[in-house]
Amino acid sequence: MNYKMHLGTTFFLALAFLAWLKAGISLETVAWLAIATFSALLPDVDHKDSFIISLAKSAVFILVLALSFKYFGFTGQAIVVAVGGSLALWLIYSAFKPAHRTITHSLLFAVILALLLYLYVGWFIASAVLFGVLAHRVEDFFYDITGIGG
Ligand SMILES: [Zn+2]
Repeated sequence: MNYKMHLGTTFFLALAFLAWLKAGISLETVAWLAIATFSALLPDVDHKDSFIISLAKSAVFILVLALSFKYFGFTGQAIVVAVGGSLALWLIYSAFKPAHRTITHSLLFAVILALLLYLYVGWFIASAVLFGVLAHRVEDFFYDITGIGG
């Protein structure tokens, strides 16, 4: 399933879940809805051409470039180091990336991620991420059996 379908489907699933809980509209519920929706993109970190990896590539390059400028100043050397550093990070990602739809699409991944988030940032974010990651798996399953959303 593509990222737009994951975002759209998870948004409505999360909205239905909040309505079922009779959560009402507040800044907290809107934040929870946004976190849950965007968390539905996380399992596809195992796919080189996924939207979340495209975002991550840009974010990593900007971060490495900023660090490079800070260390070397605004020089050509800084740009060369940033490009080389980003390329090295891409090679490391490519070498250790799991196969598509394996560990990052498992219940174990969802539970461990939620547990770590619960320990470090609390239940609010952990529950939203858990919802988004589980919704992704359900949506992939729905796509597999129907072909809708490809
Ligand atoms: Zn997926």
